[in-house]
Amino acid sequence: MRTTLTTRIKESLTNEGFSLTGIARAEPHPDDAAIIDGWTAKGMNGSMAYLEKNRDKRADITLLVPGARSVIVAALNYYNEDLPPTSDRYFISRYARGKDYHDLIRSKLYNTVKIIREAYPDSQCRVFCDSAPLTEKAWAQRAGIGWRGRNSLIINRSLGSFFLLGEIVTDAELEYDEPITEDFCGECRKCIEGCPTGAINYDHTIDARKCISYHTIELRGETPPYIMDGMTETMIFGCDRCQEICPWNKKATRHHVREFEPSEEMLLLKRDDWHNMTEERFKRLFAGTPLERAGYNGLMHNIALAREQGTT
Ligand code: SF4
Ligand code: SF4
Repeated sequence: MRTTLTTRIKESLTNEGFSLTGIARAEPHPDDAAIIDGWTAKGMNGSMAYLEKNRDKRADITLLVPGARSVIVAALNYYNEDLPPTSDRYFISRYARGKDYHDLIRSKLYNTVKIIREAYPDSQCRVFCDSAPLTEKAWAQRAGIGWRGRNSLIINRSLGSFFLLGEIVTDAELEYDEPITEDFCGECRKCIEGCPTGAINYDHTIDARKCISYHTIELRGETPPYIMDGMTETMIFGCDRCQEICPWNKKATRHHVREFEPSEEMLLLKRDDWHNMTEERFKRLFAGTPLERAGYNGLMHNIALAREQGTT
């Protein structure tokens, strides 16, 4: 029963378009909370105060989902080479060029929850994507998806790192994958050396306060001069530099997710179109995409900074 259900779950996730799947045994891992404690104690989470809360649940997933026995992790490839930045175009982080991934990944995972409930009608299952105090990178390692690179992202030897993670936590007992314990970064330091703002620490973590992605996506308000110095004149939403430079991403292949396709209208946007964009057009073009998170004013602020870089 356990083996058959494990196979059916993985087949279902593959049919939903996930490139990688793995399963780990749900059990307490106090180190997960301790690592985040050390990072937040240095203020490296910036304004993301939510990372300082729910320490107990990060340390013990059975407090997050009572009775949890298995953590199913799935990775959705989003790699594309659309919109290369040129003197006439701006750079938008690859994950943000189509529809927002949170609901998409959750709905795909819910389709797989149905398989679990067919086998165990009373089973407890919760679905996560970038939400709740679930240490998803640590669980991705335990489920055999990849290792944590120096750029802090999970890297898979076949796929690279351009993927998004989602999880199902369930009380169903399943077959478990081998964790990835080896660090395949080896002697490489390319991401540390290539980060334009020196945001990558030597312990596989990022100082969010120095990261261009954090400043152009998450943060509202003043942009510090050291971020502006690192921004190129093309970056208006995200950065991706530490992934582009990673040798493991030479293996990245284009995604097959219809929802991640940028609209034709967005693909044709030149810099002047961005400069002259009205709020009405912004809302029409980017409803339901990650750019909504920055909002019209946030994006215009980023564009003003990028233009400033172009004149210096
Ligand atoms: S996204 Fe850019 S700024 Fe942030 S860590 Fe990576 S290379 Fe550095
Ligand atoms: S660039 Fe090198 S050090 Fe950085 S994550 Fe990739 S392999 Fe690891």
